[in-house]
Amino acid sequence: MYDKKVAIIGMGYVGLSLAAFLGNKVRAIGVDANKNKINSLLSGIPPFYEPKLEYHLKRAIKNGLRFADQINKEIVSSDFVFITVGTPTDSNGKIDLTNMKSALASIAEHMTNLQNKPSIIIKSTVVPGTTMRVIKQILEKNGLRESVDFDLLTNPEFLREGSAMQDTVSPHAIVVGGSNSKSIENLTKFYRTIYKKKQNIVETNNVTAEVIKYANNAFLATKISFINSIANICQKLPGTNVDKIAQIIGMDPRIGNQFLRAGPGYGGSCFPKDVQALISFANDIGYKPILFDAVKNTNSLQVNAVLNLIKHNLRNLTNKKISILGLAFKEDTDDVRESTSIKLVNLLLKHKCNVMVHDPKAIDNTYQMFREKIKYSKSLSDVLTGSDCAVIMTPWENYKYLKEKDFLKMRNPLVIDTRRILKLDNKKILYIGLGIGN
Ligand code: NAD
Repeated sequence: MYDKKVAIIGMGYVGLSLAAFLGNKVRAIGVDANKNKINSLLSGIPPFYEPKLEYHLKRAIKNGLRFADQINKEIVSSDFVFITVGTPTDSNGKIDLTNMKSALASIAEHMTNLQNKPSIIIKSTVVPGTTMRVIKQILEKNGLRESVDFDLLTNPEFLREGSAMQDTVSPHAIVVGGSNSKSIENLTKFYRTIYKKKQNIVETNNVTAEVIKYANNAFLATKISFINSIANICQKLPGTNVDKIAQIIGMDPRIGNQFLRAGPGYGGSCFPKDVQALISFANDIGYKPILFDAVKNTNSLQVNAVLNLIKHNLRNLTNKKISILGLAFKEDTDDVRESTSIKLVNLLLKHKCNVMVHDPKAIDNTYQMFREKIKYSKSLSDVLTGSDCAVIMTPWENYKYLKEKDFLKMRNPLVIDTRRILKLDNKKILYIGLGIGN
């Protein structure tokens, strides 16, 4: 164990992964305002699904990782206080800093008369200028001064849900943004000690660090909307398959082969909200970001590409039994925030369909949204039996092993595969891959 004390405020996907990792290296404490979450964590149970998280968490608890539901003086006097609370979108499409402001107010309240000088590290995604204009002001409320009584750093997170633990253990880049070289050096040194391997650590100022995070997510979202647009063109072009096109353009090193998997549109807690926050921010400072508007609109409309395939093949949707395979916005997570599957279920309900859903991990979160309006199934056999249309939305590994015989249980074997994970060649099954022209 290294002789440093860290606190992590916000035990979500980012904060808990960090706590489960750092808890095995240094003295660490995780804080969350949600008491249920803390109770679950105190018994070593992660409050959400993330591969390998439980293993790292249990180990970290054995190594002394602690949890609390309130910020106190001891927590604030840690060497490094990481802020990882949620920064959602408000009703005007701007970043909502309510969680951040309440965490900061509590930190400020307990930061007076400290013996040490903690580094407050903003890991949450915040729009450019937030750290030095909004956050600094709150922390300086009680006469404390940045650089003198505390350091303030912007250290955005790039992990992906579904591989959050792996990305935390081995990040592709670490961005350390600060206003003075000593504070930057201090955090960089900490990371160099923690990550024995040579990690890419980039030192910069706070606002550049904030822009890097939005540029990163906006670029990835752009790639997805781009390939989804190509998929929609392929759909109308017999003899084409978007995956073949993605494979070849991905060989061009200027393009790269990642994030070229066409599908029903991106979701999750980051891309939709970060693209939206960047658009609002750009408009506020007098720049109309038409590219990002197009990325967002292309994504919002992509669910219609799926609905149109269902409509085109079933014609009348009323009372049809539609089976949705996959609710999480991607595989290996239980997160349904902004998931296109949720949007599709809502549209199908409007069309008076009988919706039956399956997901290996996200049923509980989906139940919170639809309650008894739809049917839930834990078995793939049950979800398919008697169905008029099966729509594969999330590319879960076990869906890849579905066989023709599984679909022959349907009343009307129509399979719409938005991720093209299956190859079905049976005259009794109408198989339609999104982005495959026929
Ligand atoms: P999350 O919603 O999963 O978790 C946030 C946690 O913060 C919740 O448990 C909530 O109870 C807690 N919280 C809220 N207010 C609090 C307060 N005042 N004090 C203590 N706890 C409080 O969020 P997340 O997905 O982990 O994301 C956190 C931040 O990281 C966001 O800014 C997000 O944009 C960014 N980010 C997320 C991801 C991702 O894939 N989820 C990746 C990179 C960056």
